[in-house]
Amino acid sequence: MESKFTEVYQQQASEDSHETDCEKVANLLDIVIDGEATSDQSEFFTKHIEDCVTCFESHQKQKLLKGLISGHLKRVIVPERLALSIKAKIQETV
Ligand SMILES: [Zn+2]
Repeated sequence: MESKFTEVYQQQASEDSHETDCEKVANLLDIVIDGEATSDQSEFFTKHIEDCVTCFESHQKQKLLKGLISGHLKRVIVPERLALSIKAKIQETV
C-alpha cells in the first residue's frame, strides 16, 4: 500500500514539474526574445527547449512573428514620401 502511494505521488510530482518548466519557458519567451533575460533565465530557457519540442516550436514561431512585426514596423515608420505628400496636401489647403 505504502509503496504504491509513493509511486503515484512521484509520478504526479514529475508531471507537475514538467508543466511548471513549460509554463516558466512560456513566461520567459518574451524577455528572451527581447534580449532582456538574465543569464540564469536564458540558460534555463535554452536547456529546456533542447529537450522540449513544444517549447522549441513556440519559441521559433514567436521569434519569427516578432521579426515580421519589427520588420513591418520599420518600413511603416519611414514613410518619407507619404510625409511629403501629406505636407503638400496641408500646404494646398492652407
Ligand atoms: Zn516545454
